[in-house]
Amino acid sequence: MRAVVYRGADDLRLERVPVPEIGANELLVKVAVCGVCPTDIKKIHYGTIQPPRIFGHETAGTIVKAGLLARRAGFRVGERVALHHHVPCLECRFCRHRAHAQCETYKRTGITAGFEPAGGGFAEYARVMGWVLPGVVRIPAKNSFAEGAMLEPVNTVLKAVKRLNVMRGDRVMVAGQGPIGLMFTKILQLRGVQVLATDLLESRLKLARKFGAKWTANAREMDHQKGPGFGAGMDAAVIAVPSDAAVSAALGLVRGGGQVLLFAHTRRAAPGGFDSQAAGGAGIDFASICLDEKDLIGSYSADFTIQQEVARLVFSRQLDVRGLISHRFPLEKTASAVALAAKPTEDSLKIIVASGNEG
Ligand SMILES: [Zn+2]
Ligand SMILES: [Zn+2]
Repeated sequence: MRAVVYRGADDLRLERVPVPEIGANELLVKVAVCGVCPTDIKKIHYGTIQPPRIFGHETAGTIVKAGLLARRAGFRVGERVALHHHVPCLECRFCRHRAHAQCETYKRTGITAGFEPAGGGFAEYARVMGWVLPGVVRIPAKNSFAEGAMLEPVNTVLKAVKRLNVMRGDRVMVAGQGPIGLMFTKILQLRGVQVLATDLLESRLKLARKFGAKWTANAREMDHQKGPGFGAGMDAAVIAVPSDAAVSAALGLVRGGGQVLLFAHTRRAAPGGFDSQAAGGAGIDFASICLDEKDLIGSYSADFTIQQEVARLVFSRQLDVRGLISHRFPLEKTASAVALAAKPTEDSLKIIVASGNEG
């Protein structure tokens, strides 16, 4: 089969690899589409992971083979499914505290198209291992594979929203209106929250209004004193851009007792100390945490236990993810898809790779 193999930093190659073999409790899925995710982009761009690997973890496709135990568990050949590559053990210390993304079992990747498991969505077929079968979701007939592939990113956003203490009528700033920021805007609006959406691109602010933002502001021209909705301070802020300046600005913007949630700061500081991009250089006044009781929190990855709620949200189109997908690339152009996703343009949002198996 064809697969896009990561061979080192910024080196993705279309290669021929064997179709994966599956075991009794496993599935073989013919990949239809796979979303390009910022976390994969970082691994590819910085070469932080040992090659070779086949990335891509926002995968939807059709079951073409099911082992005996997988069939007993109810899986059938021909079913259209969305995959979830991480499933926690639900028993360890981390899981008991709902920090699923820190669980050792969760950190193991359960889907592969060959080599060390890394998602396997940028290939024609992927093998789904036994322990991640609970994360497989059937896609209703009326919904597309692309909608299925969006469950994973939506899950990460809903998980983060659940970490916020927000009530109906609250004001929340969402900094960054890329696909993830737009999902935050919409999900918060569905919960009765008044969203102030900010971005540097006008095209994205326009979209943010479509996705339910009450106010929008260009981050470059934002006046924190007089801006829309700023009067009484924000109840919370979501930082969906990897900008340290946005974090300190947000800490100034939220009211006492409010929360600032980091979502896009997924790159660790260089070893041996903080670089200017890390917290040390961000000029955070810790008295805002102590005296003003503001919480600085983060959220990473998905929460498997809310997957059914995510599926309802997406498949009912309450959160209509179709408007978030701007580009589709064929499998052989995966490198271009990754390059575009890494450097968003005025008209680029979520980018997906389609393997030509959608029919
Ligand atoms: Zn992802
Ligand atoms: Zn666990």
